[in-house]
Amino acid sequence: MSQPISQPEQHSFQAEIQQLLSIVIHSLYTDREVFVRELVSNAADACEKLRFLQASGQSPTGVSDPSISITANEAESTLTIADTGIGMNRDELVQNLGTIAHSGTKSFLKALAEQQKPDTRLIGQFGVGFYSAFMVAKQVTVVTRSQAAGSEGWKWTSEGGNGYTLESAPDATPGTQITLSLKDEAKEFAQAGNLERIVKRYSNFVAFPLELDGKRVNTVQAIWARSKNEVKEEEYKEFYEYLAHDNEAPKYRLHFTADAPIAIQALLFVPSRSLEMPGMVRQESEVHLYCRKVLIDSKPKGLLPEWLRFVRGVVDSEDLPLNVSRERMQDSDLMRKLSKALTNRFLKHLAEEAEKDAAAYEGFYAEYHRFLKEGVLSDWENQAALAKLIRYESSATEVGKKTSLADYVKRMPEGQKDIYYLLAKDRAAAEASPYFEVFRARQFEVLFVDDPIDEFVMDRLREFESKTIMTAEKAELDVEDASKEGSLSEDEATALSGWLKLTLGESVHEVRASKRLVDSPVVALDSDKYMTSSMRRTLKSMGREAMTGDEAAPDLEINPRHPVIVKLNELRQNDAALAGLVAEQLNDQARLASGRLEDPRAMLQRMNMLLSRVVGA
Ligand code: ADP
Ligand code: MG
Repeated sequence: MSQPISQPEQHSFQAEIQQLLSIVIHSLYTDREVFVRELVSNAADACEKLRFLQASGQSPTGVSDPSISITANEAESTLTIADTGIGMNRDELVQNLGTIAHSGTKSFLKALAEQQKPDTRLIGQFGVGFYSAFMVAKQVTVVTRSQAAGSEGWKWTSEGGNGYTLESAPDATPGTQITLSLKDEAKEFAQAGNLERIVKRYSNFVAFPLELDGKRVNTVQAIWARSKNEVKEEEYKEFYEYLAHDNEAPKYRLHFTADAPIAIQALLFVPSRSLEMPGMVRQESEVHLYCRKVLIDSKPKGLLPEWLRFVRGVVDSEDLPLNVSRERMQDSDLMRKLSKALTNRFLKHLAEEAEKDAAAYEGFYAEYHRFLKEGVLSDWENQAALAKLIRYESSATEVGKKTSLADYVKRMPEGQKDIYYLLAKDRAAAEASPYFEVFRARQFEVLFVDDPIDEFVMDRLREFESKTIMTAEKAELDVEDASKEGSLSEDEATALSGWLKLTLGESVHEVRASKRLVDSPVVALDSDKYMTSSMRRTLKSMGREAMTGDEAAPDLEINPRHPVIVKLNELRQNDAALAGLVAEQLNDQARLASGRLEDPRAMLQRMNMLLSRVVGA
């Protein structure tokens, strides 16, 4: 051990230090305020090291329960971060703070690794955090004394670039006090209010008591880092309230840890309500990213896919480098691994919850279905998992109840090949739709969807469990064994179809006899293979006309068994004018049912003319 000296000794930094300092100060960090995080993290590391030595019986001193305290002196523009952690002796000071890319923490870990597996949670690994102090300080003073028996106190002072002085500090207490004399342009860091905000932001979950001007700051525990069965319900509740500022219980909670391919401790919540209104400003994701309980980024981009922006929580990964700026974090490989692992786990959790408690899942779905559908449309990688999570009302469910695609497939009768859906404004409208008739007759289940976005969702999925998903409008199905009684003959139907095409002209593409109709006289069928007319309208309303192509006139199918059609065939021979009106009216009805009729005025006028004839006016 070195002898105490009375004269300050001048030391110069390593040769590269000036250059490295400038990198640290100017480009490694994007926010100046992270220096607080770095110094507090070092203090926490020092406390952790002491605790470890105590726990393994290696610390001779009786000091227990190390802690950290920050004091600010606004008048003098200084700031002190003190800890009663392990402290440093003279050699350690020179080693740890005199060599920029040397991490004392790393050597400590290495030394420990040679003895036994270290059970410490150490933050720093990179050996540059300390120097972030020079982003804001014109002078940094470190007074420290090792906790090892017989250690003496030392004082280290530096103004950055040139080097540092070292002198004996006989009055130093065990632990470390770091005082920053702030630059003029960084005076705000001596304001208590400012500091409190910063400390709460980055260091609220540090595992040792942390005081600011004598007041305890970190009162909420980092429960995500504890094992699930050690956390009480009450603690989860408190933590969630703190995190989400929501005093209603969350819909779901997922607390899990993983080791491979990346270390993760995560605690995720689905709030009771979605805070995002359809069509309003998009919410930002608020799953905070931590490394060993120290905040890296409160709104990390790319941690979760966009459509999961309703999730709240904390993700901690000790594999993340603390000293990396956020810009560089975003597209790192690590981030992708982290995102993938989290998303998979979360989707799995939703599927499990849906299985376990269908009613609760219904509640979740009612609140968040828009996000899941957005996921189907935007996140190809997770589409298959999402397909299992979507739910729709159907012709086989009770009113207001929804089914999964998997259950739909289980119910499919023999002879049904595909999965069908029908867009209508509500269930009653769907059931009254001419498109539904053939399904009712065949007892094929139809999913009732009521949001134009659902058509895009279905279109994007294309299939489920190898069954094609298609709109009922485009299903090529026949009503089997329909009675021929009172029906037009095939020739009559063909003749009437020809006449209708002549009468209706360009507004229909083709007219033919239908095998799918039961109760309705006519139905319009899209001649485009994929796009429906409502999809076209939706795209138009989004200003995406270019994607819709030209809307071809639909095919018109007539029901040769329907009395109106049967009579119309006679009428066209007896009263061509009246028959013409009826034909136009039927065409408009078909257009109305398919959502093509945008302006009903002409139809209403014609209707009045027809009514006049009926009442004999
Ligand atoms: P890192 O924390 O990544 O190791 P730093 O530049 O932040 O790098 O710190 C360098 C080293 O200085 C640390 O590893 C540690 O050995 C020592 N050190 C810094 N602050 C303290 C402190 N408050 N108490 C004890 N040692 C410290
Ligand atoms: Mg550090």
